[in-house]
This record gives sequence, C-alpha cells and structure tokens, in this order.
Amino acid sequence: MAKKILVTGGAGYIGSHTVMQLLLAGFSVSVVDNLDNSSEASLERVAELAGDCGKNMTFHKIDLRDRDALKKLFATTKFDAVIHFAGLKAVGESVQKPLLYYNNNIIGTIILLETMAEHGCKKLVFSSSATVYGWPKEVPCTEEFPLCATNPYGRTKLMIEEICRDIQLGDSEWDIVLLRYFNPVGAHPSGFIGEDPRGIPNNLMPFVQQVAVGRRPALTVFGNDYSTKDGTGVRDYIHVVDLADGHIAAVEKLFRSNKTGCDVYNLGTGKGTSVLEMVEAFEKASGKKIPLVMAGRRPGDSETVYASTSKAEKELNWKYVFVSYYYCRAKYGIEEMCRDQWNWASKNPWGYGKPNESADPST
Ligand code: NAD
Ligand code: UDP
Repeated sequence: MAKKILVTGGAGYIGSHTVMQLLLAGFSVSVVDNLDNSSEASLERVAELAGDCGKNMTFHKIDLRDRDALKKLFATTKFDAVIHFAGLKAVGESVQKPLLYYNNNIIGTIILLETMAEHGCKKLVFSSSATVYGWPKEVPCTEEFPLCATNPYGRTKLMIEEICRDIQLGDSEWDIVLLRYFNPVGAHPSGFIGEDPRGIPNNLMPFVQQVAVGRRPALTVFGNDYSTKDGTGVRDYIHVVDLADGHIAAVEKLFRSNKTGCDVYNLGTGKGTSVLEMVEAFEKASGKKIPLVMAGRRPGDSETVYASTSKAEKELNWKYVFVSYYYCRAKYGIEEMCRDQWNWASKNPWGYGKPNESADPST
C-alpha cells in the first residue's frame, strides 16, 4: 500500500514541486491549502505532469485554522506523515501585520499538530528557514549555530521549531524533521509549474523574472556596499526540485526509523552567489538584459549566508532517494536554476493567471 502523505500548503511554490516528486516516488498525496497565496491551477498541472501517478492526489481547500474541516479530513484518511508548508512568508508584510502572521502561522500549526496527535499521526516534516541564523558570525551555517529572528515571520519559524522540539520531548512517539531552506529558485524543468507570487515579489529571482518578461522596468539591488566579492548580498540558491527531493529524503528517513526524535537539516548547496552573479547567470540563460537600480541595504538583510550541507548529505541519505542519479546532494547548479526559471517565466509570463486576471491590483 502506498504511504499517505498530507501536504499542507501544497498548492504553493515549494509545495507543488514536492507534491510532484512525492507522486513520482509512489506516495499517495492529499493537499490542504486555503489558496491565499496560490492557485489550484498549480495542482491541476502537477496532476497532468505526473501522468498515471496524478490520480493519487486529492485537493482540499481548507484553512489550517478551520479545526472542524481538518478533523473531518483526518477522520476520513489515515495519514502516515505530514509535510507542513502552509504559512505566510513575506518578511515586510510580517513587520506591518505581525498579528496576521502569528495568527496564521502559529495558530494554524498548533491546530494541525493537535489534530495530528488526536488521530495518532505523529510524523512531521516542517518548512523552516535559514532566516533563523540571522546575520551569522561565520559561514557556512551549521545546524548547531545560535538561532535568532529579526522579524515576525522569522519569529514564527523559530517558535514553530521550538514547539516541535517541545512536543517531541513531551511525547517520544513524535518523529519530526525540521528542514531549514536556504534560497529556493528555479522551476520544474518542464516549465509547467513554477513560482507565481501574488503582488510585488519580495524575493530576488521572482522579481528578476518579472523584469525579464516586461512586467517591471528594473531590479532594485538592495545594497552594493557589503564586504563581499562585488558588494552585493551573498546567498545559497538551491533548485526547487532539489529542495523538493530533500523532502522525499526526509519522509523516507521518518519511515526508516522510529527514533528520529526532532532533528534539523539545512537544505542548500553550500555555495554562495552574489546578487550580481545571479543576475548575470539569468541574463546568460534568458538572453534578456536586466536593468539595475542600485539602492541602499534592505533593513534586516544579512550580508552572506550559505549552508553547511554535510549533515543532510550524511544523515538524510539523499543517495538512497537518488539511486537513479547517483547523487547524494543537490544536483543542479546556478546555470540550471536560471535556465529553468526562464523556461517557466517565458512560457508563463503571468504565472498561472492572465494579465487581466491579476489577483492583486498592485501587480
Ligand atoms: P507559498 O506561499 O508559495 O506556499 C505556501 C502555501 O500555503 C500557499 O499555497 C498558501 O495559500 C498556503 N497557506 C498559507 N496559510 C495557510 C493556511 N492558514 N491554511 C492553509 N493554507 C495556507 O510559499 P513557498 O515559497 O512555497 O513556501 C512554503 C513554506 O516554506 C513556507 O512555510 C515558507 O515560509 C517556507 N520557506 C520558504 C522559502 C522561500 O524562499 N520560498 C524559504 C524558507 C522557508
Ligand atoms: N535582493 C535585491 N533586490 C530584490 C530582492 C532581493 O537586491 O528585489 C537581494 C537581497 O538584498 C539579498 C538577495 O537578493 O541580498 C536575496 O534576497 P531574497 O529576498 O530573495 O532572499 P533572503 O534575503 O530572504 O535570503
């Protein structure tokens, strides 16, 4: 019997790519999403792309804070594990509307965890973020680094990590993997699914992609006076399909052993790339010029952040997942990330919508 995985936030960017990889790996998948920052079209495309495996997916439009609806779902399906992506993620918005973020991310997670416990489902993979390292004193960031948060969004990640550690301490039946993502970019190589943020993109690559297709005039570079190779911020970009595969490795680990406890892994490539290097790679992949406007640093930004990947490589045993590729780590580089980002953008300049169907007037 195929293992049944509940994926919260599965219609979103990382969620839809993970649902795709789960289906191909033979899992049965139920997606819960309130579609606040996504469209059901992503899942329709996943179902089509996954071919025969696509029939092993169901979608439930549910807000995680709707306890009754969640309970009903758990009463009808016995899940073997949950991958929890659902949450709001815009740093700037979280500063303006902290209660919205605490309500959605924290209360949504608590209701999910309570419902899981009530139904005896105690295996969880949670989407944390490299934001919990703040401005690290050194790089690469190892999982043991001190944690901090500089904004309400980051605090929700940190709080949920602590909640997970606490519930596992209180009840050893819980098996939890916390995944700290670095900077997911790119899209499925088919160009069929990708990132389609509502409103003005906060992250670098969705913004660059919208400049390339003519939706925005120029990229504002936040700070060129950092102590980095070219003065711009350095991050660890990881292809979203590699990141999705990291989730398969994490659930496989949960099923391999009942003694995971609450463990944490970085998902990154271990390589640092500057904003200007990323723009150059994208220009090369797309043949498009990206006009730049130099501006001051963005409040709360760190200078250089990249991952130590050794723990994930050793303990998540990616090589067991990637038997056909013979890889035990992220397999795509910047070139492929930009190639696939452009493939998605050029085929879907307005994401899953059409220009006159824009979900947000600010777009
Ligand atoms: P996304 O916004 O594309 O996906 C999140 C999904 O969750 C959306 O489809 C949204 O509609 C849904 N959602 C939000 N609140 C919900 C609720 N209360 N009930 C049901 N559904 C709800 O974001 P993403 O980039 O795919 O990120 C997924 C997760 O990974 C998030 O938790 C995010 O914080 C985390 N993360 C993302 C990044 C990144 O750069 N994209 C980096 C680190 C961590
Ligand atoms: N960045 C930028 N212009 C933008 C968005 C981001 O110069 O419109 C820079 C940002 O300052 C950082 C890097 O790109 O150095 C990655 O930013 P992103 O928001 O994608 O990721 P995070 O900072 O959360 O790691």
